[in-house]
Amino acid sequence: MTQETVRERRLPTGLSPSSMDLYHQCAKRFEVQKIDGGYEPAGYEALLGTFVHRVLELVMQEEAGDRTIEAAKAHARVAWAETLAEADFQLLSLSDDQMREFRWRGWHSVENYFDMEDPNSVLVVDTEQYLKCVIEDVPMRGIIDRLDRDGDELVVSDYKNGKVPKPQYRGSKWEQLNFYAAMVEATTGERPVRGRLIFTAHSEVLETDFTDKSVGALVNKVTATWQDVKDDFEGRGFKTQTGPLCAWCPVMPTCPPGAAEVTMRMKKGRVREDAPGYAMIKQMQRQVDVVAAPQGVPTLIALTHHQPEDVGLLGVILDPAVAVVARWDQVVGVP
Ligand code: SF4
Repeated sequence: MTQETVRERRLPTGLSPSSMDLYHQCAKRFEVQKIDGGYEPAGYEALLGTFVHRVLELVMQEEAGDRTIEAAKAHARVAWAETLAEADFQLLSLSDDQMREFRWRGWHSVENYFDMEDPNSVLVVDTEQYLKCVIEDVPMRGIIDRLDRDGDELVVSDYKNGKVPKPQYRGSKWEQLNFYAAMVEATTGERPVRGRLIFTAHSEVLETDFTDKSVGALVNKVTATWQDVKDDFEGRGFKTQTGPLCAWCPVMPTCPPGAAEVTMRMKKGRVREDAPGYAMIKQMQRQVDVVAAPQGVPTLIALTHHQPEDVGLLGVILDPAVAVVARWDQVVGVP
């Protein structure tokens, strides 16, 4: 590892809704990203969401009356230029057709938004508002897409470009809104009454009321999560949590339990072929495959796809014909 790539491990400067969610999805991935400073480029869907957010942000910054579809078209051109300049977008290496589809999908979401509510009727307090505060000794931060006033009441609105989750999977979305409500209350003294999730691609709005109970539960979770992060950091260790998301996790190639999970799911046909982990496992298997070994002669093979300092012994090849599957699976513990 070169000197430039070494970064001192340190606690994050605070918890945001997304980092808290990440910790609960997998503490190990949180460690790599938030403690060690590992960079995860934004993927296609995240960049598409950013494009739509940006257009709507610029539209809602217009005076009421000027928030028209024509204005949105002009703002979409600005947002598109910004997207093209994004390093993460360039990493996607999209073809001309794929770029057209990206823009079409983004614009479709913007048009949907105009069908869902009249933007000129919204009393906007702020857009893309960065908030930072300390609650119960926990540093918290986050960016609120939109804060509106509805009569005397404050309302938090959050744009989502993904699918509308089934009711049983909405918990983290409600937590995110309550996180924002707690921060607005801590910084302004006024608690918003309601939170809205505006699903622009699917023309649906979900709402929740903020109550003492909902905000109190969120604060309790934030406090417990921060304590867990500190305990993990101070020696308890960040645990892996395997599951379907391992196939979408960039940490997977250096995470044996995650690699085992994806390998096992691939065998059962339960990994989408467009999941990054699918190609990664295929690549890892190919690299193991090139190791020559006389049949029946136990041979140590090395994990050559890692950085040189990470090279480790994977196992013993007993039969080169089945080495890829059998040895890899044995090493990562797949039954
Ligand atoms: S591969 Fe799975 S277990 Fe490993 S860090 Fe990623 S999400 Fe966690």
